[in-house]
Amino acid sequence: AIAAAAPDPDETRHVLRRVFGYESFRPGQQEIIDHVVAGGDALVLMPTGGGKSLCYQIPALVRKGTGVVISPLIALMQDQVDALRALGVRAWFLNSTQDMEEQRLVEAAFVAGELDLLYLAPERLRTEATARLLDRGSISVFAIDEAHCVAQWGHDFRPDYLALSALHERWPDVPRIALTATATPATHAEIAERLNLGRARHFVAGFDRPNIQYRIVPKNEPRRQLLGLLRGEHAGDAGIVYCLSRASVEKTAEFLSANGFTALPYHAGLDPAIRADNQARFLREDGVVMVATIAFGMGIDKPDVRFVVHLDLPKSIEGYYQETGRAGRDGLPSTAWLAYGLPDVVQHRKLIDISEGDDVHRRRSAAHLDAMLALCETVECRRVRLLAYFGQSGEPCGNCDTCLSPPSTWDGTVAAQKLLSAVYRLQHERRQKFGAGQLVDILLGRSTAKVVQHRHDSLTVFGIGTELTEREWRGVVRQLLAQGLLAVEGDYGTLVLTEASAEVLGRRRQVMLRRDPARPAGSPAAKAA
Ligand code: ADP
Ligand code: ZN
Repeated sequence: AIAAAAPDPDETRHVLRRVFGYESFRPGQQEIIDHVVAGGDALVLMPTGGGKSLCYQIPALVRKGTGVVISPLIALMQDQVDALRALGVRAWFLNSTQDMEEQRLVEAAFVAGELDLLYLAPERLRTEATARLLDRGSISVFAIDEAHCVAQWGHDFRPDYLALSALHERWPDVPRIALTATATPATHAEIAERLNLGRARHFVAGFDRPNIQYRIVPKNEPRRQLLGLLRGEHAGDAGIVYCLSRASVEKTAEFLSANGFTALPYHAGLDPAIRADNQARFLREDGVVMVATIAFGMGIDKPDVRFVVHLDLPKSIEGYYQETGRAGRDGLPSTAWLAYGLPDVVQHRKLIDISEGDDVHRRRSAAHLDAMLALCETVECRRVRLLAYFGQSGEPCGNCDTCLSPPSTWDGTVAAQKLLSAVYRLQHERRQKFGAGQLVDILLGRSTAKVVQHRHDSLTVFGIGTELTEREWRGVVRQLLAQGLLAVEGDYGTLVLTEASAEVLGRRRQVMLRRDPARPAGSPAAKAA
């Protein structure tokens, strides 16, 4: 309820961060919010847990007036309102559980324009008294939650919902957004008809993108791996290659150009004219590879993007989903390919540590990163994990790397014990912390200069891990991080124990690990094999 305006993506994003504390929109949210902020009607079908509430709460905050939310869930109103108030949103409700005095207070606050959100039970709207009350205030948006309750043949039918068709006649200028999680296409049509939502835009946010093949591989020789993927599977295709830094965008674009691809760089540091030109070429010409930071892609609607590559680990699953979602809008088979390694994790931790914002923000960022790591190291179907993150369930998809070639697992308990006890020795006997490189050298018994300098060759754990290769040890480190059995901190990516580490060291916990593919998928060698 701050200001009336045409949709300003920065403003809605600002509210998302500042009020709700979220970094990015969930799939579908931004389009819906922009549409409603601009004054359009919307019918939203989104899975439970998909994030429907923000779709009306943010427009209510951004548009002038109070957002009126019609919800049948009287028992939940108090909780919803309490949660909003804790965020500083001026929300209140009117329902039969309140005494007269409280109701008067709420009504007065509404009329005075002091509410951002007002929750109402549907039966209220049948009364002329409520209609007159609403006339005396200013309304930013009507949100009709659990909209399937208007469907007469549905199992949740509520006669009071039928009266909601009149909202539009009495307040023709107020946008309406109807939301539900459970509508079949037939119910969907019935909702539109009964609520008089003929002009509404329909938003159906199922999160699955079945034509996208998800693949996540350990990053060994990224350029060779990338070249293998592009030459082997996507010659002549349009695609996007995301890199974390501007420097790696430039270098990767040069590398691909030198190898015969039409590859263009895109990042915020480029001259705006060049950026616009590169974007135009990507949209217009066939087979252009855009090498970009995540600054690229918002609002880009190119249907035939055949691959989205991440050469660095995205910082959250939301980001990963959003970026990979730019592949295959035309529904044809497309590839989402991500290569990641230990240095990515260290880099992200560092960025989180030095980021502005408070501890809550940092902890949230760390949790996002952990979820992303867990997706990378899962032995289950990637799609199942991805959808589960957004609250949807699914069956193994048959179109992701773990479904197509199920990774074998091995009992890594002893390896984990060795690694963790090396960390323990350093941390507790020497009061030292080191990164993965030094730990692996110690386990492999390598008398490097740094090992000798710190007398790490005299540790009891020196040379106890020669049964694994360096690459395998790095895989162990990554997976222990993903499982929360090890943590990385500080500028140099030093490894430290977590509370859960003790269970492994105390032999109370078994550690199953994923065996990395012998050859990185996407490399020419892997294709030949
Ligand atoms: P629904 O009503 O669709 O079932 P909710 O609106 O209750 O879903 O949201 C489900 C959960 O997702 C809530 O915990 C909410 O805070 C969270 N959520 C919603 N949008 C986002 C977002 N953009 N980023 C992170 N979390 C979100
Ligand atoms: Zn799968």
